[in-house]
Formats: sequence, C-alpha cells, structure tokens
Amino acid sequence: MQLSSLLLRFAEPETLKMAKLGRELTVKGIDIIGLSLGEPDFDTPQHIKDAAKTAIDENWSHYPPVAGYLDVREAVCNKLKRDNDLDYTPDQIVIGTGAKQNIANTVLSIVDEGDEVIIPTPYWVSYSAIAGLAKGKVKFVNTTPENKYKITPEELESAITYKTKLFIFSSPCNPTGVIYTKEELKALADVFDKFPRIFIISDEIYEYINFVGKHESIAQFESLKSRVIIINGLSKGFAMTGWRLGYSASSTEIAKACEKVQGQFTSGANAVTQRAAIAALNSSLKPTNEMVKQFKIRKQIVMKLLKDIPLISCIEPDGAFYVFPEVDKYFGKKYNGDVIKDADDLCMYLLNEAHVSTVTGSAFGEPKCIRISFANSMENIEEGFKRIKQGLSKLT
Ligand code: PLP
Repeated sequence: MQLSSLLLRFAEPETLKMAKLGRELTVKGIDIIGLSLGEPDFDTPQHIKDAAKTAIDENWSHYPPVAGYLDVREAVCNKLKRDNDLDYTPDQIVIGTGAKQNIANTVLSIVDEGDEVIIPTPYWVSYSAIAGLAKGKVKFVNTTPENKYKITPEELESAITYKTKLFIFSSPCNPTGVIYTKEELKALADVFDKFPRIFIISDEIYEYINFVGKHESIAQFESLKSRVIIINGLSKGFAMTGWRLGYSASSTEIAKACEKVQGQFTSGANAVTQRAAIAALNSSLKPTNEMVKQFKIRKQIVMKLLKDIPLISCIEPDGAFYVFPEVDKYFGKKYNGDVIKDADDLCMYLLNEAHVSTVTGSAFGEPKCIRISFANSMENIEEGFKRIKQGLSKLT
C-alpha cells in the first residue's frame, strides 16, 4: 500500500503513545500509575457544564461560523482585556478545535517550504511536527537547566537567518514548567524588533497554571503585537481537554488566513462547546484558582519526592503540571542484562517493570530528561514516585 510521504514528516505524539501503552497494560490487568498525560485530573466546573446542557436544549446544533460565534470571540476579547490588558477585536480572534488546531492553522498560514522555524528546546511535542507538515525547516535552539531552560536574547539572535519566518515557544512551558518574566520577554522582543519578517507564536495555554505571579505575554510589546499570535484555550485552565476548544489572537490578516485554513479542515469548533466557552471565559476564575492551589501543593510534594531519588536533578517548575528531571546518570545501567541506553529505554523500563507511565524527554528535544506529570491524585503521585524510586534502584 502506498501512503503519502507526508506521513513520514511527523510521528505519533509520544505523550499519547505512552498513554496508549499504559491503557493496554491496564486492560491486561496490570495496575499502571499514569504520570504521562497532560491534562488536569479535575472535573469541568459545574456552571460550564450547565451552559453546555442549555445549549443542547436550545438546539445549538448547526454549523457555526468558521472563525467562531461572534459572542464567543467577544468573550475572548474581554478575557484578553481583563487578564492581560490587551486590546483585540473579534475579527482578530479564531476559535479552533483545541489550541493544537489553532497552532496548526497559524503555522500553515505562515510557513512555506524551506522557511526556518526556530523552536527553543525543550519544546512541546507538536510544534516541530506541525512545522514539518508545513515543510518548514525546524531549527532547534538548545537551552540549559543552568538558565532554567530559557532561551537568551543572544542565543535567539544567533539562530536567526534571513530565512527565519517563525519562532514558537510556550510560557508557562510544557515540559519544563518555566515561565518567562516580563523583562526576559522584553529582551527577546528587542531582538525581534530588529527582524520585522519574523512571526512569533506565543503558546499561553498554561497561563492560569502559574505558581509564581502574574502571567506576561510577549504580545504586550506594541512594536511586536502585529506579529505575535497568542494561542490559548480552555483545555488546561478550565479542565476541559475533551471539550476541544482553543483560540488564537493575532492581526486581522493572520486571523483571516487561519479562518481560511480552518474552513477546509474542520468548518469550525463544536457549537455546544463554544456556547459553554462563553460561560468559562466570562465567569469567575474561582474553580480555576482552586485547582491551581492543588497543583501548587502537589508540586511542592513532588519536588520533595524527587530530592529523595538518587542521581536525579530537576529545576523547580513555576507553572504547568510537570516536572522534567535529568535522568541521564541512569543511562548505561542494566536491568536483567538489558542496558538502559537513553530516556526512551528508561521510560519503557519504568512502564513495564515499575508500572508507571512517564514520557521520554527526547519527545521534547531534551534526551537527558523524562517528563513526569503531577496531574493525578496525591495518592497516585506518591505511589508513582515510590515505584519510580524502587524501579531506578534496581538498575545496576
Ligand atoms: N500547547 C501546549 C504547550 C500543550 O501542552 C497542549 C496540550 O497538551 C496544547 C498546546 C494543546 O492544547 P489543546 O488540548 O487545547 O489542543
């Protein structure tokens, strides 16, 4: 069977693959602790669920406008003003089927074959895959734990060439949990000011899962705003991963391009979810803040549990719900004669022998690390870390 060459340009997301393998073992009756997936283990707040039920009863069952209902886009504009002091109009907003869709819309709108796309590592798995789909040439810039995995203005500037078209990053970052400060963003913005051809995708999907202070967006710098595409959505902050709603905020020109792409791929985001999104975006953030409080408590416990595991080091995340420890001191060790060569082997070993699912750092462009999610109950987190510690102690 001859399938398309496009399939060779990307792989199945490692995050979803690990979850699938974990589920397969669970079906076989093995008790797996899942610390691989990137979704809150909380329920969607009641008032949002109620809004969806009302929408069903009111027959919101027809094709929505491709870019999203006007009042949903207005709600996004109000949110951007309320939370970020940013001015956008509804014609600058596109509602998509999850932030991932909005990233795809944007990349396909901007990147041509051979255009360079700069992505600082560690990065979220899908950025490079989507850039590859657009035939962009991905240029990774390796960051270090010493600089809390943040790209410096110098590193950014030296990676830029006349072919650079797009820069993609997330803050708070998946997988490291690091958050760029306003000063750090300003320093990057000063570099971008010198290169007016470059667009910036600022993935802010973890905006609310912030343990240290106020969220800062690179779109706040006026000289840059027309080239920044903010990506955000409901998945993480409102515990709504399965509802599939994201949005982009950009110049009108890019919004129109994204709408055109989306018109051929999905015809727009689910109508009922869009109605529920109005309730999420317009109402109090109390349930979100409660959830974040729990994530913060878990983070503190997870940092203690990590300190208890020999040969591992880890920066403390400022946001999101992951830790990203360096585990390379275990590479070269053996279990039953089999060598653990790298993070891929270590994750498979932890899954098959210790019965905990994590994700290999190589999926995020940092092969020394593994990603462990703390979006699970305290009980499961403690059990998961106990298993990781015991599993690692068996390697010789
Ligand atoms: N961006 C980042 C950094 C993510 O971690 C994720 C999901 O894991 C997404 C985007 C996609 O979000 P959504 O579920 O809204 O498509």
